[in-house]
Amino acid sequence: MKITIHGSGYVGLVTGACLADVGHDVMCVDVDQVKVARLKRGEVPIFEPGLEDLIRHNMEDERLTFSDSPEEGVAHGLLQFIAVGTPPDEDGSADLTHVLGVARTIGQHMDGYRVIINKSTVPVGTADKVHQAVADTLEGRQAEVDFDVCSNPEFLKEGAAIEDFSRGARIVIGTDSDKVRKLMRECYAPYSRQRDKLMFMDVRSAELTKYAANAMLATKISFINEIANLAEHLGADVEQVRHGIGSDPRIGYHFIYPGCGYGGSCFPKDVKALARTASEVGAPARMLQAVETVNDAQKTRLFDKLELALHGNLKGRTIALWGLAFKPNTDDMREAPSRVLMEQLWQAGARIQAYDPEASAECHRIYGERSDLCLSKQRDAALEGADALVICTEWKAFRTVDFDKIARTLNHPLVIDGRNLFSPEDVEAAGLEYYAMGRGASL
Ligand code: NAD
Repeated sequence: MKITIHGSGYVGLVTGACLADVGHDVMCVDVDQVKVARLKRGEVPIFEPGLEDLIRHNMEDERLTFSDSPEEGVAHGLLQFIAVGTPPDEDGSADLTHVLGVARTIGQHMDGYRVIINKSTVPVGTADKVHQAVADTLEGRQAEVDFDVCSNPEFLKEGAAIEDFSRGARIVIGTDSDKVRKLMRECYAPYSRQRDKLMFMDVRSAELTKYAANAMLATKISFINEIANLAEHLGADVEQVRHGIGSDPRIGYHFIYPGCGYGGSCFPKDVKALARTASEVGAPARMLQAVETVNDAQKTRLFDKLELALHGNLKGRTIALWGLAFKPNTDDMREAPSRVLMEQLWQAGARIQAYDPEASAECHRIYGERSDLCLSKQRDAALEGADALVICTEWKAFRTVDFDKIARTLNHPLVIDGRNLFSPEDVEAAGLEYYAMGRGASL
């Protein structure tokens, strides 16, 4: 099938590469000309395991092309996917500027039937707005062209995006048209062979399914973080509690890892947007507000622990920071807990020596050159001359460490672990002071 994807970010690139890989003829379009020029040279601007190889290989086989011309993109695909960003507006609602911009572009250039498929995460009712925007644009140019709009929310996770796209639990399609159902079945058939993963539903239910899924996952994280904080007050160990509750199949082990808060481009903005939608329709979502409040507070806990452990004396200190990305296997730092910590540390007059296996360039892009930030090329180099080590991301490279070496290298033998990576006994045996999340110590 001929497919166009508007937006070449995480979702657009992964969708484009995976659909090309099963034989479709895919064109990825982006308004960012620099990005498109790099992609045409085979350079992938984001770090996502396996993506660069998949893109190169499909470009070589001429199933995947890139363009910065929306006109070319609209002419190419019978299926027109929208995979552009939907950042939060000032009031927390999703900003639909890019989505509706693509809708108008499609309306401007289409000269035959198109299915417009919304893959961006958008509030309930957006498909109607997309439909209206396309119809108005067609009317403006006095063109009569048939089209359908459907919803196909994306559930991939950064860091495992290709695996999630190829072997995801479900493919949700919101439509009331038999013609669209047939075309979407054909598009996804290669990814739905083992068992029928396509779930057809009405458009509004599909739009809400995406928000409900992310809100549920964010709720699990804030819930376990609240239990972790409680465990500190009660002298309990949340890791034992986690095992205790996760073994119940009604609860399960997934997404109940305590930590320093969720970040990324999706959970924070989607929880906000759903809460905003709820208040707009007069059905305030009290739980979602609490999920957000707990998470915002959780992101400041590493700083609070550090400040207490160093007796409020952070000015002029050097803090080693392991992990900048909001989670492992990505270089994405959007809404990362590390950013809250770094900004609090700078405010308090501390200096940071940070190491991340993939996100250093992104950190440099965000914060630029500054005298109170040193980005180390090696994990252990970040420890040299530092007064404490704080861990923000659970990269595999941080799981196996030599605690004696850490104790010898740090000026002050203090480790604050925002991801509960270690057994407190092992760390303390090396003479280190160790504070994790919800593990009995009352810092
Ligand atoms: P992103 O910011 O990485 O990429 C968006 C891309 O769209 C950018 O390259 C931008 O230049 C481009 N763009 C903007 N306006 C355009 C236009 N008019 N025409 C063509 N391209 C345009 O965003 P993302 O992370 O890929 O997310 C896209 C959507 O998918 C969002 O709604 C997001 O919530 C949702 N989503 C993201 C993830 C994720 O893990 N990143 C997972 C599921 C769903």
